[in-house]
Order: sequence, then structure tokens, then C-alpha cells
Amino acid sequence: MTTKQQDDNLTEFIKCEHCAHVFDHDSSAYGAIHCPACAGKITDASPNINPDALADFVAALNTKFNGVGYTFLVERPGVRYTRIVQTAPGHRSVFCFVDADGNIYKAAGWKGPAKGVRSTLATVELSKVDPYGSWLYR
Ligand SMILES: [Zn+2]
Repeated sequence: MTTKQQDDNLTEFIKCEHCAHVFDHDSSAYGAIHCPACAGKITDASPNINPDALADFVAALNTKFNGVGYTFLVERPGVRYTRIVQTAPGHRSVFCFVDADGNIYKAAGWKGPAKGVRSTLATVELSKVDPYGSWLYR
């Protein structure tokens, strides 16, 4: 299947792999996606994401910031955007989003990213990453 991001951050086009029907999908929606035309289940749209690179990034964040009280985790592998969450006692927020190609985005909110790639899993410089999200501004 293929997806194409629309201008709206939270909406994407999905082409059904079963019947080729193209439909809008709210990329912030949870759970399995089913084609509205044929009810076929859409498989994960992130076949290109490198799970090792994602795991390495999250592990590096934890190594760097556990000492100052933050824990990072992949809360929800998304269809289009995978959400990385930052937690601390009494605190829980979105740290960033990562797409299927390993591009890293600043969060626009809990549900989805702001426009514009801010870094990538392949090129991110851990020395510049801070726990407050400043590194995602440009
Ligand atoms: Zn279909």
C-alpha cells in the first residue's frame, strides 16, 4: 500500500492493498484500519521503518536522560507516525514523532507532528538532543 501525506497533519491518503480504493485516514486514530470499500484490513504502512534504528534512538535517549529523571518509550507504533513519549514522575508528554522513513518531527500535540522534518534517525546528533524539545525547533 502507499500513503501520501496531505497538508493536514493528521490526515493521510491510504490506497487499499485489496481493492485499490483510496480513502482518507486520520493518522492519529488508534487501532487497525479497515478499507471502507471492501472492509479489508490494511497492513502496517510503515514497512520501511528500521525497528533497530528506532530502538537504538530510544535506548540512547534513555542512556542520556535517565539520570535526570526522564524515561522514553515508543508508546504507539503508528501507521504513519510513531510516537515517542517522554515520562517522568507526574509527567508524560510527546517527545517527538518518527515516520516510516526515519524522519523525526516535532510534536504539534498529542496526536500528530508539526510539519517539517527536524532530524532523522540516521543523522540525529545525540549531543544536541535535549529533554525539553528545544532541539526540534528550527
Ligand atoms: Zn479495499
